Amino acid sequence: MVQSDIIKKHHFVFSKKYGQNFIFDKNLLQAIVEDAAITSGDDVIEIGPGAGTLSYMIAKKAKTLTCYEIDHNLEGILQESLAGLDNVKVIYQDILKVDVSQLDEQYPNGYHIVANLPYYITTPIIFKFLEESKKIKSMTIMVQKEVGLRMIAPVGSKDYGALTVSLGYRATVEYKRTVKRQLFTPAPNVDSCIIRIDFTKSPYHVQHEETLQRLIKCAFAMRRKTLVNNLRQEFGLDLESGQQLLESLKIDPQIRGEKLTIAQFIELSNKL
Ligand code: SAM
Repeated sequence: MVQSDIIKKHHFVFSKKYGQNFIFDKNLLQAIVEDAAITSGDDVIEIGPGAGTLSYMIAKKAKTLTCYEIDHNLEGILQESLAGLDNVKVIYQDILKVDVSQLDEQYPNGYHIVANLPYYITTPIIFKFLEESKKIKSMTIMVQKEVGLRMIAPVGSKDYGALTVSLGYRATVEYKRTVKRQLFTPAPNVDSCIIRIDFTKSPYHVQHEETLQRLIKCAFAMRRKTLVNNLRQEFGLDLESGQQLLESLKIDPQIRGEKLTIAQFIELSNKL
């Protein structure tokens, strides 16, 4: 039975609270798995399997698939739609409560995340894995189009911000495709996109990650302020030494944070 029929059979009621907008379109599901570049040696984690449509496609390609689903009402549906696949496990747990260091231990050779993310917690999920995992290799995720555009925004643009820089110094980020809202059941109010974040290809070397994270946060905390003013507040510098610091890196002392490239963020954090 196809998954959309399984959903009907179980009289499933979509929950807005859990961001349940499912995908049944086979071509799109196929494209997402191709975007993720999963191969038969890969261990994959899926966040929010829903009716198991994407899960089924991933499991056919991957070595193992572990799904984390918050909604117990999907148990019967997932059992049916993933029946016969012996490399899949579904854990009914809130992904935000999962201990990432334990996941890292479980997958010493690393793992990939593939997910059509629930929109209400997109950024917390991304930052959880970004900050806590040392073993994650890639993340291929469906997010709201505007969030995807923030991830790949060029320096100086209105979308360029903490998300762009935090991802950009750790990984390479690719915008794979736009996904129109009509392809979801039920259809949300916005379009989406597929983003692939590859943590195995980071072009930068960071010496003091904690300082860099503080710098990113303060640079975008008050976007209308000059960088030097934000620096004074966060790092307790006086105006003159702040300006000298920027000049020593050939950065305009009047610059705003949004004009600072990722390479400059790293240089500055190394000096700080
Ligand atoms: N993967 C399915 C698909 O593409 O059709 C469903 C995607 S739907 C956008 C998001 C899924 O995430 C839902 O199944 C929802 O119940 C689940 N979810 C929501 N919050 C969650 C959380 N905190 N932890 C784990 N799963 C969650």
